[in-house]
Amino acid sequence: MKDGFLLGDTLLARLARARSVLVLTGAGMSAESGIPTFRDAQTGIWSRFSPQELATPEAFARDPGRVWQWYEERRKSVRSAQPHAGHRALVQLETMVPELTVVTQNVDGLHQLAGSGKVWELHGNILRSRCHLTQRPIGSDWLADSPHSPPRSPYVEGGLARPDVVWFGEVLPTAAVEAAAAAASRCDFCFSIGTTSLVQPAASLPLVALEHGAALVEINPAETPLSPYASLSIRGKASEVLVTLVSEFAAWTGHYEVSPHT
Ligand code: NAD
Repeated sequence: MKDGFLLGDTLLARLARARSVLVLTGAGMSAESGIPTFRDAQTGIWSRFSPQELATPEAFARDPGRVWQWYEERRKSVRSAQPHAGHRALVQLETMVPELTVVTQNVDGLHQLAGSGKVWELHGNILRSRCHLTQRPIGSDWLADSPHSPPRSPYVEGGLARPDVVWFGEVLPTAAVEAAAAAASRCDFCFSIGTTSLVQPAASLPLVALEHGAALVEINPAETPLSPYASLSIRGKASEVLVTLVSEFAAWTGHYEVSPHT
């Protein structure tokens, strides 16, 4: 028995026995890379608009230039962002367990940039674009430097480039949703990191994991609607908590034989 570990002995033992780990991340995971959550973003130049008014197909139909500009601002901050130590700690954790799946609501690609091997993007990726009429991908070579209005689609008259993200009211990518649901059903251990757990279907994934007997650990400086259900809620920032947690897990597994029955 060893005191002082973030997870505590029981959860460390469960993590050590886990055959499959699910990590669900939200905007808070990227906050320390300098990408604001929507709440933070509203303190800036876009404070007069709510994301709900801009991140919709209706907003794009009404005023494509305004929506494109908003995304251009966000793309700038994503392009200059780097993964933080917490992203890298998850890459390390992936080498320590049989399977680790990241399911992210983030559209910034930072998990992949850090080196995570299995990442499902529920809400798309802001650095990709597609035709708003045909939905076909538009490569970056076609996108001229066009900060003020969306470039024309190469595929169809009247088509415009739009960010390859899921807007409010749109259907999520089927492959990612199915893979996320499957990962939630089969995991033995689930982390929910930096998400308010309000947006469906992501919010229900940790509950699916719980129903299937997984341990659930939440990492968030603030309480969320998921907190009452978590086996443990760690109140802290993603980077410092993950760095500590993964190094403690490495030390713990180095020192303890894990019996499948403990
Ligand atoms: P959200 O609902 O996921 O809320 C952010 C959560 O992160 C809050 O619970 C907050 O307490 C927590 N948090 C803040 N700083 C943290 C830190 N350092 N470590 C851990 N947790 C921290 O996000 P939202 O801003 O309401 O955005 C909703 C949706 O908008 C997202 O699911 C995503 O699709 C999109 N979005 C994506 C990005 C991105 O890709 N980086 C950024 C903003 C919004």
